[in-house]
Amino acid sequence: MCAKGIDGNAVKTAVADASAFIQGLPFGGILKLYTTPLVEKEIEGLKGIGLQVAANLIVMSPAEESIKIVRESAKTTGDDARVSEADIEVLALALELHLPIITDDYSIQNLAWHLKVDFITVRERGIVEEVHWTYRCRGCHKTFDKKLDDCPVCGSEVRSYRGHKGAGVKKAKNERKD
Ligand SMILES: [Zn+2]
Repeated sequence: MCAKGIDGNAVKTAVADASAFIQGLPFGGILKLYTTPLVEKEIEGLKGIGLQVAANLIVMSPAEESIKIVRESAKTTGDDARVSEADIEVLALALELHLPIITDDYSIQNLAWHLKVDFITVRERGIVEEVHWTYRCRGCHKTFDKKLDDCPVCGSEVRSYRGHKGAGVKKAKNERKD
């Protein structure tokens, strides 16, 4: 098995979070793998992992500045309550090294999206778009921003539909917002 980036090309170098190791990272195509001291601590107890990745695993701490950028983003997206110090650290490293992050954690994926960091999922289907809901009348097909029991125009049933904003899957660019 070979890790593929969003563009479908094999990934040679990546940053991995704890969920990636726990889910069983696809090591096949990866030549070099980075993680952080806090993630290393989390995965220490997992049998066999040390041996499996010892040859090409580099443990590195991100700069304080990168951690600050990720922390600020987490506040903006509302993920700050859901991410751990290890999550913030590993995202900061991906941002700093301009490398994709391997993660199955949705909050990390959401934050990566906002930081324009590429991410690769192991087992879970990753987020592909920001989702929002729209409501449409079954009778007159008028759409509404909020949930209504009956259409105020014709009185028919109003149903919810899953919509999306933006253009869906886009290859994220490693750009830092200053
Ligand atoms: Zn209607």
